[in-house]
Amino acid sequence: MSEINSDRRFFSVVNPATGEEVGKYPLMSAKEVHSAVERAQRKFEEWSYSSFKQRKEILLKASSILAENAFYYAEVISRETGKTRFDALLAEVATVCDVMHYYAKNAEKFLAPVKVEGNIFLPGRKAYYLFEPKGVIGVISPWNYPFTLCAGPVITALSAGNTVVLKPASQTPGSALALQEILLKAGLPEGVFEVVTGSGSVTGEALLEHPALEMLFFTGSTEVGRKVYTKAAQRLKPAIMELGGKDPAIVTKNADIKRAVYSILWGAFTNCGQTCIGMEICLVERDIFDEFLSEFLSITRSLKCGQQVGEIGSMTMAEQLKIVESQVEDALAKGAKVLVGGKRDGAEKGMYYPPTVLTDVTMNMKLMTEETFGPLLPIIPYDDVEEAIRIANSTPYGLSSSVFSKDLEEARAIARKLKTGSVNINDCLVTFAMTSLPFGGVKESGIGRYHGDIGIRAFTNIKSISEFNMDIQKEFYHYPIDPSMEKGLQAMLVAVFSRNPLKKMVSAIRSLPTLKKILKKN
Ligand code: NAP
Ligand code: MG
Repeated sequence: MSEINSDRRFFSVVNPATGEEVGKYPLMSAKEVHSAVERAQRKFEEWSYSSFKQRKEILLKASSILAENAFYYAEVISRETGKTRFDALLAEVATVCDVMHYYAKNAEKFLAPVKVEGNIFLPGRKAYYLFEPKGVIGVISPWNYPFTLCAGPVITALSAGNTVVLKPASQTPGSALALQEILLKAGLPEGVFEVVTGSGSVTGEALLEHPALEMLFFTGSTEVGRKVYTKAAQRLKPAIMELGGKDPAIVTKNADIKRAVYSILWGAFTNCGQTCIGMEICLVERDIFDEFLSEFLSITRSLKCGQQVGEIGSMTMAEQLKIVESQVEDALAKGAKVLVGGKRDGAEKGMYYPPTVLTDVTMNMKLMTEETFGPLLPIIPYDDVEEAIRIANSTPYGLSSSVFSKDLEEARAIARKLKTGSVNINDCLVTFAMTSLPFGGVKESGIGRYHGDIGIRAFTNIKSISEFNMDIQKEFYHYPIDPSMEKGLQAMLVAVFSRNPLKKMVSAIRSLPTLKKILKKN
């Protein structure tokens, strides 16, 4: 929880698990943000001409520093989010090491010029396209995975030769500054990656306003995303938008029940449910519903809230905790049953909320249509898989989803019908962790993709080049045009595109004088 001091020059960040202050950060004004953008702009030329080898060295060194100091950085993240050190190690430190390594290894290959075929009427040209860095990229990120969700776009943008200005969530500036510290230690030149701290409404908006910003990468809620995207559109700047989710899991009677229980439980409750791709709706075929539910409840009951390995960490934001509580209240009022959890233990100091399982839910309950972003899981039986797919697709979101079945044909058929940006078969959340898989949402969950080859190309301008280098000065279409060329061109069209073999042959012969003229040196 951040609290803005009265002089509005600094804001403090509090550890949500203890209530203790963990740091004070500058609340940057529009002027300070604009200076940061201009520093990044001045550095652009130098960085854009740096070699892939140089960038690779920096990224490999950065991942080595991060890996060697993994506990230290996991604790920085844990302190400002309230997540356990283990959760930070797994989903932030390890993920970021992998992203650094991945683009160190692959950026040059993904951004190599692409040679393409020419045009038969334009002989002798060599055609290819290049991926060029865009300039200064603005990144705005959320608090739930404050290291991973800053590092992903930042590393990708830098690998492609851009410079970056990052506005982290005001709850979690320390994680963003830790990323900057690691990259500087690894040899990234000053000014190539700037971090601006402060609120969304002042610091974030100032970043969006600067005319030097060539692209925006936003991760956050659909509500704020809509506002931010409108601003980028007004300035005709491209934006990748990674927004909210309401991810469903479908478990068929052919599933390995234990695997489905372990996976979904983790997918729903890791990071205290504050995961954009966290499981929020669980649909289970009726034949196995009782067995699934009883296994699920027995493990859920054994989970404890706290900071030890395997415990469920604290929620990060007070507003988020209120949403969770109000969704449970709304569901109970409309007839749902809470089978485990559902109430905070009053003795807890931090913002802990226990993992909660609900049944007897109906589609008019908020927790079935609105993003929860907390440790709630409604489990619903289904008789007909088409009905399960319809429920899974019924929300405005389409980020990720899961299907559990040992019958892969069945699982793939369901996966194809799910309207989400990714599908995990017999797994939860892992498509995000595979840096080679493009990540992003459909519907109101987002626009564009990052990760993988597509992801790095998204941070570039594509420049198409055609090269001509033959000893020919005048083309047949240059002025003055020889009138016989008209018939010749018509014959060539038939020779090339007609599907009638006889006409093709006759026209090819008729085309010869024209071809000769076309290729004649003059
Ligand atoms: P948020 O409230 O939308 O904030 C995201 C970022 O935008 C923060 O840095 C915030 O700054 C900033 N911001 C707020 N208002 C702004 C404005 N007017 N102009 C510019 N920037 C502004 O989201 P959140 O609460 O941090 O994160 C939770 C949400 O993110 C959930 O909906 C979750 O599903 C989504 N999410 C999506 C993904 C994905 O990959 N699709 C991943 C993780 C999370 P302040 O913190 O200073 O307000
Ligand atoms: Mg928010």
